[in-house]
Amino acid sequence: MRGNTLYIVVPCYNEEEVLPETARRLGDKLKSLMNAGKISPQSRALFVNDGSKDKTWEIITRLHGENPLLCGVNLSRNRGHQNALLAGLMTAKDRADMVISMDADLQDDVDAADAMVDKYLAGADIVYGVRSSRKTDTFFKRTTAEAFYRMMDLLGAETVFNHADYRLMSKRALEGLAQFKEVNLFLRGIVPMIGYPTDTVEYERGERFAGESKYPLKKMLSFALEGVTSLSVKPLRMITGLGFLVFFVSLIMIVYNVVRWATGNTVAGWASLACSVWFIGGLILLSLGVIGEYIGKLYMESKGRPRFIIQQVLDGGDGETEE
Ligand code: UDP
Ligand code: MG
Repeated sequence: MRGNTLYIVVPCYNEEEVLPETARRLGDKLKSLMNAGKISPQSRALFVNDGSKDKTWEIITRLHGENPLLCGVNLSRNRGHQNALLAGLMTAKDRADMVISMDADLQDDVDAADAMVDKYLAGADIVYGVRSSRKTDTFFKRTTAEAFYRMMDLLGAETVFNHADYRLMSKRALEGLAQFKEVNLFLRGIVPMIGYPTDTVEYERGERFAGESKYPLKKMLSFALEGVTSLSVKPLRMITGLGFLVFFVSLIMIVYNVVRWATGNTVAGWASLACSVWFIGGLILLSLGVIGEYIGKLYMESKGRPRFIIQQVLDGGDGETEE
Protein backbone atom coordinates (compact mmCIF):
# COMPACT_ATOMS: atom_id res chain seq x y z
CA MET A 1 0.00 0.00 0.00
CA ARG A 2 1.12 3.55 -0.64
CA GLY A 3 2.15 5.72 2.25
CA ASN A 4 -0.23 8.35 3.51
CA THR A 5 1.81 11.31 4.67
CA LEU A 6 0.19 14.48 3.34
CA TYR A 7 1.83 17.87 2.87
CA ILE A 8 -0.27 20.89 1.99
CA VAL A 9 1.87 23.44 0.14
CA VAL A 10 0.81 27.09 0.22
CA PRO A 11 2.72 29.81 -1.64
CA CYS A 12 2.46 33.15 0.17
CA TYR A 13 3.31 36.61 -1.07
CA ASN A 14 2.38 39.49 1.23
CA GLU A 15 -0.34 37.43 2.89
CA GLU A 16 -0.10 38.63 6.50
CA GLU A 17 -3.81 39.43 6.55
CA VAL A 18 -4.98 35.93 5.71
CA LEU A 19 -2.18 33.72 7.04
CA PRO A 20 -3.33 33.22 10.65
CA GLU A 21 -6.80 32.17 9.51
CA THR A 22 -5.45 29.96 6.70
CA ALA A 23 -3.06 28.30 9.15
CA ARG A 24 -5.84 27.68 11.64
CA ARG A 25 -8.07 26.06 9.03
CA LEU A 26 -5.28 23.93 7.59
CA GLY A 27 -4.20 22.86 11.07
CA ASP A 28 -7.78 21.80 11.83
CA LYS A 29 -8.06 20.01 8.50
CA LEU A 30 -4.85 18.06 9.13
CA LYS A 31 -6.02 17.07 12.59
CA SER A 32 -9.41 15.88 11.41
CA LEU A 33 -7.84 13.85 8.59
CA MET A 34 -5.40 12.33 11.09
CA ASN A 35 -8.21 11.47 13.48
CA ALA A 36 -10.06 9.80 10.62
CA GLY A 37 -6.94 7.71 10.06
CA LYS A 38 -6.62 8.87 6.45
CA ILE A 39 -3.25 10.57 6.78
CA SER A 40 -0.22 9.84 8.93
CA PRO A 41 0.79 11.91 11.98
CA GLN A 42 3.84 13.11 10.02
CA SER A 43 1.58 15.18 7.76
CA ARG A 44 2.20 18.93 7.63
CA ALA A 45 1.14 22.22 6.10
CA LEU A 46 4.07 23.93 4.37
CA PHE A 47 3.97 27.69 3.80
CA VAL A 48 6.34 29.05 1.18
CA ASN A 49 7.28 32.67 1.73
CA ASP A 50 7.90 34.11 -1.72
CA GLY A 51 10.05 37.07 -0.69
CA SER A 52 7.16 38.97 0.91
CA LYS A 53 7.67 42.60 1.81
CA ASP A 54 5.40 42.40 4.84
CA LYS A 55 5.52 40.26 7.99
CA THR A 56 4.56 37.00 6.27
CA TRP A 57 7.74 35.13 7.24
CA GLU A 58 7.62 36.36 10.84
CA ILE A 59 4.06 35.07 11.05
CA ILE A 60 5.04 31.69 9.57
CA THR A 61 7.88 31.42 12.09
CA ARG A 62 5.54 32.23 14.96
CA LEU A 63 2.88 29.78 13.74
CA HIS A 64 5.54 27.07 13.45
CA GLY A 65 6.52 27.71 17.07
CA GLU A 66 2.92 27.42 18.22
CA ASN A 67 1.91 24.41 16.17
CA PRO A 68 4.43 21.84 14.88
CA LEU A 69 1.99 20.81 12.15
CA LEU A 70 2.72 24.13 10.43
CA CYS A 71 6.07 24.39 8.62
CA GLY A 72 7.70 26.96 6.40
CA VAL A 73 10.12 27.52 3.54
CA ASN A 74 11.70 30.91 3.07
CA LEU A 75 12.82 31.76 -0.46
CA SER A 76 15.77 34.06 -1.01
CA ARG A 77 13.60 36.57 -2.90
CA ASN A 78 10.32 36.96 -4.78
CA ARG A 79 10.18 34.51 -7.68
CA GLY A 80 6.48 34.57 -8.49
CA HIS A 81 3.62 32.21 -7.76
CA GLN A 82 4.66 29.31 -10.03
CA ASN A 83 8.25 29.17 -8.85
CA ALA A 84 7.25 29.54 -5.21
CA LEU A 85 4.82 26.67 -5.64
CA LEU A 86 7.51 24.56 -7.30
CA ALA A 87 9.90 25.28 -4.43
CA GLY A 88 7.24 24.06 -2.00
CA LEU A 89 6.43 20.97 -4.04
CA MET A 90 10.08 19.99 -4.38
CA THR A 91 10.65 20.48 -0.66
CA ALA A 92 7.56 18.45 0.21
CA LYS A 93 8.36 15.71 -2.32
CA ASP A 94 11.11 14.26 -0.13
CA ARG A 95 8.97 14.27 2.99
CA ALA A 96 5.49 13.32 1.82
CA ASP A 97 3.61 10.62 -0.10
CA MET A 98 1.04 13.06 -1.44
CA VAL A 99 1.05 16.83 -1.71
CA ILE A 100 -1.88 19.21 -2.08
CA SER A 101 -1.15 22.70 -3.38
CA MET A 102 -3.48 25.60 -2.68
CA ASP A 103 -3.50 29.39 -2.49
CA ALA A 104 -3.07 31.24 0.76
CA ASP A 105 -6.18 33.35 0.36
CA LEU A 106 -8.70 30.56 1.20
CA GLN A 107 -10.37 30.90 -2.20
CA ASP A 108 -9.95 27.19 -2.62
CA ASP A 109 -12.34 25.23 -0.44
CA VAL A 110 -10.21 23.53 2.21
CA ASP A 111 -12.88 20.85 2.66
CA ALA A 112 -12.31 19.56 -0.87
CA ALA A 113 -9.02 18.16 0.47
CA ASP A 114 -10.92 15.22 2.04
CA ALA A 115 -12.20 14.12 -1.34
CA MET A 116 -8.74 14.56 -2.87
CA VAL A 117 -7.16 12.34 -0.24
CA ASP A 118 -9.92 9.74 -0.74
CA LYS A 119 -9.21 9.68 -4.47
CA TYR A 120 -5.48 9.34 -3.81
CA LEU A 121 -6.14 6.42 -1.48
CA ALA A 122 -8.35 4.93 -4.19
CA GLY A 123 -5.39 4.97 -6.57
CA ALA A 124 -5.24 8.35 -8.33
CA ASP A 125 -1.84 10.01 -8.70
CA ILE A 126 -3.07 13.45 -9.67
CA VAL A 127 -6.38 14.88 -8.48
CA TYR A 128 -7.40 18.20 -10.03
CA GLY A 129 -9.55 20.61 -8.09
CA VAL A 130 -12.03 21.96 -10.63
CA ARG A 131 -14.25 24.95 -9.93
CA SER A 132 -17.90 24.11 -10.32
CA SER A 133 -18.87 27.76 -10.91
CA ARG A 134 -17.48 31.26 -10.88
CA LYS A 135 -20.42 32.86 -9.10
CA THR A 136 -18.31 34.63 -6.54
CA ASP A 137 -15.89 36.18 -9.03
CA THR A 138 -16.38 39.71 -10.19
CA PHE A 139 -17.74 39.98 -13.74
CA PHE A 140 -14.35 41.25 -14.88
CA LYS A 141 -12.35 38.41 -13.33
CA ARG A 142 -14.78 35.82 -14.66
CA THR A 143 -14.81 37.06 -18.26
CA THR A 144 -11.06 37.58 -18.39
CA ALA A 145 -10.39 34.20 -16.83
CA GLU A 146 -12.73 32.40 -19.20
CA ALA A 147 -11.28 34.26 -22.17
CA PHE A 148 -7.90 33.06 -20.88
CA TYR A 149 -8.87 29.37 -21.07
CA ARG A 150 -10.46 29.85 -24.51
CA MET A 151 -7.41 31.63 -25.86
CA MET A 152 -5.07 29.02 -24.44
CA ASP A 153 -7.10 26.32 -26.15
CA LEU A 154 -7.14 28.18 -29.45
CA LEU A 155 -3.40 28.65 -29.40
CA GLY A 156 -2.76 25.00 -28.73
CA ALA A 157 -2.01 25.01 -25.01
CA GLU A 158 -3.93 22.21 -23.35
CA THR A 159 -5.04 22.84 -19.80
CA VAL A 160 -7.72 21.45 -17.52
CA PHE A 161 -10.71 23.81 -17.83
CA ASN A 162 -11.39 25.89 -14.72
CA HIS A 163 -8.58 24.27 -12.81
CA ALA A 164 -6.11 26.60 -11.13
CA ASP A 165 -3.34 25.28 -8.95
CA TYR A 166 -5.48 23.48 -6.38
CA ARG A 167 -4.54 19.82 -6.84
CA LEU A 168 -3.17 16.73 -5.18
CA MET A 169 -0.08 15.01 -6.55
CA SER A 170 1.43 11.72 -5.43
CA LYS A 171 5.12 11.28 -4.72
CA ARG A 172 5.79 9.60 -8.06
CA ALA A 173 3.87 12.31 -9.93
CA LEU A 174 6.10 14.88 -8.21
CA GLU A 175 9.16 12.89 -9.17
CA GLY A 176 7.85 13.08 -12.72
CA LEU A 177 7.43 16.83 -12.36
CA ALA A 178 11.00 17.16 -11.08
CA GLN A 179 12.22 15.88 -14.46
CA PHE A 180 10.71 18.87 -16.27
CA LYS A 181 13.61 21.28 -16.15
CA GLU A 182 12.07 24.28 -17.85
CA VAL A 183 12.78 27.69 -16.40
CA ASN A 184 9.65 29.22 -17.92
CA LEU A 185 7.30 27.43 -15.65
CA PHE A 186 3.61 26.94 -16.33
CA LEU A 187 2.62 24.21 -13.91
CA ARG A 188 -0.98 23.68 -14.91
CA GLY A 189 0.15 22.94 -18.45
CA ILE A 190 2.98 20.65 -17.42
CA VAL A 191 1.14 18.55 -14.85
CA PRO A 192 -1.21 16.92 -17.40
CA MET A 193 1.89 15.86 -19.37
CA ILE A 194 3.12 13.75 -16.45
CA GLY A 195 0.41 11.17 -16.95
CA TYR A 196 -0.51 8.48 -14.35
CA PRO A 197 -4.10 7.86 -13.23
CA THR A 198 -5.88 11.15 -12.66
CA ASP A 199 -9.18 12.24 -11.20
CA THR A 200 -11.03 15.46 -10.45
CA VAL A 201 -12.82 16.92 -7.47
CA GLU A 202 -15.33 19.74 -7.90
CA TYR A 203 -15.45 22.61 -5.45
CA GLU A 204 -16.93 26.07 -5.12
CA ARG A 205 -14.38 28.80 -5.19
CA GLY A 206 -15.02 31.49 -2.61
CA GLU A 207 -13.94 35.09 -2.47
CA ARG A 208 -10.54 36.15 -1.28
CA PHE A 209 -10.71 35.98 2.52
CA ALA A 210 -8.79 39.24 2.97
CA GLY A 211 -6.19 41.33 1.22
CA GLU A 212 -5.91 42.00 -2.50
CA SER A 213 -5.37 39.79 -5.52
CA LYS A 214 -1.71 39.50 -6.43
CA TYR A 215 -2.75 38.92 -10.03
CA PRO A 216 -3.66 42.25 -11.60
CA LEU A 217 -4.57 42.26 -15.29
CA LYS A 218 -0.99 42.91 -16.36
CA LYS A 219 0.33 39.84 -14.55
CA MET A 220 -2.59 37.78 -15.86
CA LEU A 221 -1.77 38.71 -19.44
CA SER A 222 1.88 37.87 -19.04
CA PHE A 223 0.88 34.61 -17.36
CA ALA A 224 -1.33 33.76 -20.36
CA LEU A 225 1.48 34.56 -22.78
CA GLU A 226 3.83 32.49 -20.68
CA GLY A 227 1.37 29.60 -20.80
CA VAL A 228 0.93 29.68 -24.55
CA THR A 229 4.60 30.03 -25.39
CA SER A 230 5.59 27.33 -22.88
CA LEU A 231 3.12 24.79 -24.14
CA SER A 232 2.81 25.24 -27.85
CA VAL A 233 4.48 26.45 -31.03
CA LYS A 234 1.14 27.07 -32.68
CA PRO A 235 1.70 30.85 -32.90
CA LEU A 236 4.79 30.19 -35.01
CA ARG A 237 2.76 27.97 -37.29
CA MET A 238 0.10 30.66 -37.53
CA ILE A 239 2.75 33.05 -38.83
CA THR A 240 3.62 30.57 -41.55
CA GLY A 241 -0.08 30.34 -42.41
CA LEU A 242 -0.31 34.12 -42.49
CA GLY A 243 2.72 34.29 -44.77
CA PHE A 244 1.10 31.89 -47.22
CA LEU A 245 -2.15 33.84 -47.15
CA VAL A 246 -0.50 37.20 -47.84
CA PHE A 247 1.61 35.66 -50.58
CA PHE A 248 -1.51 34.22 -52.18
CA VAL A 249 -3.32 37.56 -52.03
CA SER A 250 -0.36 39.31 -53.61
CA LEU A 251 -0.32 36.76 -56.44
CA ILE A 252 -3.93 37.55 -57.18
CA MET A 253 -3.12 41.26 -57.09
CA ILE A 254 -0.27 40.81 -59.56
CA VAL A 255 -2.46 38.93 -61.99
CA TYR A 256 -5.18 41.54 -61.61
CA ASN A 257 -2.76 44.41 -62.21
CA VAL A 258 -1.20 42.76 -65.26
CA VAL A 259 -4.66 42.28 -66.74
CA ARG A 260 -5.52 45.92 -66.03
CA TRP A 261 -2.27 47.02 -67.64
CA ALA A 262 -2.86 44.86 -70.72
CA THR A 263 -6.33 46.33 -71.16
CA GLY A 264 -4.89 49.79 -70.94
CA ASN A 265 -6.22 50.79 -67.54
CA THR A 266 -3.32 51.83 -65.36
CA VAL A 267 -4.63 53.07 -62.03
CA ALA A 268 -3.29 56.12 -60.32
CA GLY A 269 -3.88 55.61 -56.62
CA TRP A 270 -1.47 55.81 -53.75
CA ALA A 271 -4.15 54.98 -51.17
CA SER A 272 -4.21 51.28 -51.92
CA LEU A 273 -0.41 51.29 -52.02
CA ALA A 274 -0.05 53.06 -48.70
CA CYS A 275 -2.57 50.71 -47.12
CA SER A 276 -0.78 47.60 -48.24
CA VAL A 277 2.57 48.96 -47.07
CA TRP A 278 1.14 49.53 -43.61
CA PHE A 279 -0.65 46.23 -43.66
CA ILE A 280 2.39 44.19 -44.62
CA GLY A 281 4.60 46.24 -42.29
CA GLY A 282 2.25 45.49 -39.40
CA LEU A 283 2.18 41.81 -40.19
CA ILE A 284 5.96 41.65 -40.36
CA LEU A 285 6.36 43.42 -37.02
CA LEU A 286 3.79 41.15 -35.40
CA SER A 287 5.48 38.07 -36.77
CA LEU A 288 8.89 39.26 -35.63
CA GLY A 289 7.43 39.87 -32.20
CA VAL A 290 6.07 36.34 -31.95
CA ILE A 291 9.34 34.85 -33.14
CA GLY A 292 11.14 37.12 -30.70
CA GLU A 293 9.04 35.73 -27.83
CA TYR A 294 10.27 32.25 -28.60
CA ILE A 295 13.86 33.36 -29.04
CA GLY A 296 13.63 35.07 -25.67
CA LYS A 297 12.47 31.78 -24.18
CA LEU A 298 15.32 29.89 -25.80
CA TYR A 299 17.69 32.44 -24.34
CA MET A 300 16.31 32.08 -20.83
CA GLU A 301 16.18 28.29 -21.04
CA SER A 302 19.71 28.04 -22.39
CA LYS A 303 21.04 29.71 -19.28
CA GLY A 304 19.36 27.17 -17.05
CA ARG A 305 19.26 29.50 -14.08
CA PRO A 306 17.89 28.12 -10.81
CA ARG A 307 14.14 28.47 -10.52
CA PHE A 308 14.26 29.23 -6.83
CA ILE A 309 16.78 29.46 -4.04
CA ILE A 310 15.82 28.35 -0.55
CA GLN A 311 17.10 30.40 2.31
CA GLN A 312 15.63 28.44 5.18
CA VAL A 313 13.32 25.53 5.91
CA LEU A 314 11.35 25.34 9.15
CA ASP A 315 10.21 21.75 9.55
CA GLY A 316 10.83 20.81 13.12
CA GLY A 317 14.01 18.92 12.20
CA ASP A 318 17.30 20.75 12.68
CA GLY A 319 15.40 23.81 11.56
CA GLU A 320 17.67 25.20 8.90
CA THR A 321 18.61 24.06 5.44
CA GLU A 322 20.70 26.31 3.28
CA GLU A 323 21.14 25.66 -0.41
N1 UDP B 1 1.73 34.47 -4.86
C1 UDP B 1 3.09 34.18 -4.70
N2 UDP B 1 4.02 34.99 -5.31
C2 UDP B 1 3.66 36.06 -6.10
C3 UDP B 1 2.27 36.33 -6.27
C4 UDP B 1 1.33 35.51 -5.64
O1 UDP B 1 3.46 33.23 -4.01
O2 UDP B 1 4.54 36.74 -6.61
C5 UDP B 1 0.72 33.60 -4.19
C6 UDP B 1 -0.30 34.34 -3.35
O3 UDP B 1 0.18 34.57 -2.06
C7 UDP B 1 -1.47 33.35 -3.36
C8 UDP B 1 -1.36 32.70 -4.72
O4 UDP B 1 -0.02 32.96 -5.18
O5 UDP B 1 -1.33 32.36 -2.37
C9 UDP B 1 -2.37 33.22 -5.71
O6 UDP B 1 -2.37 34.62 -5.75
P1 UDP B 1 -3.71 35.48 -5.73
O7 UDP B 1 -4.70 34.89 -4.79
O8 UDP B 1 -3.35 36.90 -5.50
O9 UDP B 1 -4.23 35.30 -7.23
P2 UDP B 1 -5.77 35.21 -7.73
O10 UDP B 1 -6.46 34.19 -6.88
O11 UDP B 1 -6.34 36.56 -7.59
O12 UDP B 1 -5.65 34.77 -9.16
MG1 MG C 1 -6.59 34.24 -4.98
